[in-house]
Amino acid sequence: MLEKQQLEEIQNYIENGKKIAITTHTNPDGDAIGSSLAVYHYLKTKGANVKAVVPNKFPGFLKWLPNSNELIIFEKDAKKAKKVLEEADLIFCLDYNALLRTGAVTNDLKESKGKKVLIDHHISPEVEDFDYVISDVNSSSTGEIVYEFIAAMGDEDLIKKTISECLYTCIITDTGSFSHSCNNVKTYEITAKLIANGVDARKSHGLIYDTFSESRLRLLGFAINDRMLVWDDLKTALIYLTKDDLVKYKYKVGDTEGVVNFALSMDKVNMAVLVTEKDKKIRLSFRSKGSFSVNDLARKHFNGGGHRNAAGGNMAKPIMEVIDEIKSVVKNYKNQLNYEIK
Ligand code: 5GP
Ligand code: MN
Repeated sequence: MLEKQQLEEIQNYIENGKKIAITTHTNPDGDAIGSSLAVYHYLKTKGANVKAVVPNKFPGFLKWLPNSNELIIFEKDAKKAKKVLEEADLIFCLDYNALLRTGAVTNDLKESKGKKVLIDHHISPEVEDFDYVISDVNSSSTGEIVYEFIAAMGDEDLIKKTISECLYTCIITDTGSFSHSCNNVKTYEITAKLIANGVDARKSHGLIYDTFSESRLRLLGFAINDRMLVWDDLKTALIYLTKDDLVKYKYKVGDTEGVVNFALSMDKVNMAVLVTEKDKKIRLSFRSKGSFSVNDLARKHFNGGGHRNAAGGNMAKPIMEVIDEIKSVVKNYKNQLNYEIK
């Protein structure tokens, strides 16, 4: 956590009516949107002058989060978003470790004179880009660190049901409903407090996970049945979805979330990859079990990064060439991938 003096400096921005912006990473997920809205509600409760900007559209299963309609989407409302960033005195940077991760927002963020407060749990943060750094790679989620930040500000009692619902969303989405990145007692202690504050665990879980459209579920079936390659010798499974596949199954933002985890759920697999053909780029999602670091793999070969067991990347090549390249790269890691999960 920050030193007392740094927390007081942040407190001064909040209490003196300074303009505060909240930002998060491109293709925002549950932790990105949940932590942005939690900080947004916290600062509003403190009477701060705050606005939150997200780079692009977020999945429909996060729209139930209180006041999600107040998030300014840069790609839809660039003028408004640019003004917020330009005028900001203080900028919260949530759930990303490098300015480049903010996609469309990056340039305006770089140009803004606002002091930047990083709150994040990704490996190797580019700390020189931020004025205040709260980074904890052992935290389940950025939401978990946001809880600790609010508590460190002396405001734990302001965490009521609304903020708790946002933070609960961060934790369950980033741990796959407590299935990974959740071996710390602290995660459960914070979760217990969120439940005590009125979160209905079953209801929140349902609002996030039981929201499939028929076409999303059929896309999942198709992806597993028709688009999954299994490379036994590499203990790797890869699912790919072309632009035409996405059109056929009426793809909406968020519809491919979680698909990669089904490939990883095979007992013989230690790494799973999802390859999705987006407008201009090929988007990659990596997941692993155990020691193999997909963060290292994505950083080194696929213009990305993330965590040891969950990372993303991008390629600008035809999708079938990307798949060939992944296979030839992964072949070099055959030995590292051949271990038994105990
Ligand atoms: P996902 O596969 O769900 O998109 O991302 C998995 C994890 O990797 C998330 O924590 C996400 O923030 C991170 N991640 C995804 N894409 C990138 C990327 O292009 N660069 C970096 N550094 N991290 C990424
Ligand atoms: Mn996260």
